[in-house]
Amino acid sequence: MTRSEHHAKSLYVPESAEIVDRKTMTNDETWYHLRFKSGRTLGHEPGQFVQVSIPGVGEAPISITSPPSMTDGFELCIRHVGNVTNAIRQLGKGNVVGIRGPFGTSFDLAAVRGYDILFVAGGLGLVPLRPVIHTALEERDQYGRIIIFYGTRSPDTVLYREDLKKWQSDPSVDCHITVDLADDTWRGHVGLVTELFHLVSMDGENTGAFICGPDIMFRFVLAEARAIGISDDMVFLSLERRMKCGVGKCGHCQEGPFFVCRDGPCFSYDQLQETLQREWTE
Ligand SMILES: Cc1cc2nc3c(=O)[nH]c(=O)nc-3n(C[C@H](O)[C@H](O)[C@H](O)COP(=O)(O)OP(=O)(O)OC[C@H]3O[C@@H](n4cnc5c(N)ncnc54)[C@H](O)[C@@H]3O)c2cc1C
Repeated sequence: MTRSEHHAKSLYVPESAEIVDRKTMTNDETWYHLRFKSGRTLGHEPGQFVQVSIPGVGEAPISITSPPSMTDGFELCIRHVGNVTNAIRQLGKGNVVGIRGPFGTSFDLAAVRGYDILFVAGGLGLVPLRPVIHTALEERDQYGRIIIFYGTRSPDTVLYREDLKKWQSDPSVDCHITVDLADDTWRGHVGLVTELFHLVSMDGENTGAFICGPDIMFRFVLAEARAIGISDDMVFLSLERRMKCGVGKCGHCQEGPFFVCRDGPCFSYDQLQETLQREWTE
């Protein structure tokens, strides 16, 4: 067995990946294109994450933001908030990071085949939803309408501007963007992402929804999804919880009966309902 084959087989040993490109997306977020030094492909499903490490600093779970159809490496979008993510900010093309994974469950696109799809992303929530949107568009004829709601704090925090522009000009996609607070440059909708539910008419009984965003957003978006008749087993969410091992051993990310790293991060609302309701009433 070669050294890189050994690394690829170990859950706990990071494998070296080179930063082949990077772009500043906003003041807080950077996009990275990475490639394994071993040449292996990541082999992920939309919604999964990797553990990214910097020797001597630590490790952080980060969603894979490229679709599985991308075979030349993979992409991450990182918000620089603390030790590991700020250390990554210092790195440029040619630098190397450690990668473990892919880990976790993926979004169940097969469950919504034949249905309309509603994607609801809040802020950084667009990162794990992007590969699902790309995959759904690659197999466009398998689904009914594709509706995208994206809400973010302000115009300067909009992520993936090129994708959003493409989706907004694609007649087979219904893409709506809103910001909480506008500035002089903003010509689009202003208000919370939940308001978009009232601008677009949807056939809830024939719709499956994929939702990702800050915790506070879930409660209100889930209520809107229910109100238009989307059934709980057709709603899929991705949860973000503090995690360490990434493989369901340490318990850092326990949420009710689940370890989010192993049993999630992608769940159906059906699975999580009891746990989330308990959290919201505490
Ligand atoms: C499944 C999953 C997918 C994720 N995907 C992405 C992604 O695609 N892009 C991205 O930028 N981030 C993502 N995150 C969040 C990212 O993992 C954290 O921001 C990162 O671990 C912070 O590490 P740090 O060492 O830079 O910060 P630290 O030095 O550990 O902490 C900095 C600050 O962030 C807080 N913090 C640390 N971890 C979390 C967390 N998980 N949730 C909330 N607050 C936290 C700390 O309390 C502290 O205030 C994801 C998290 C999970 C669980």
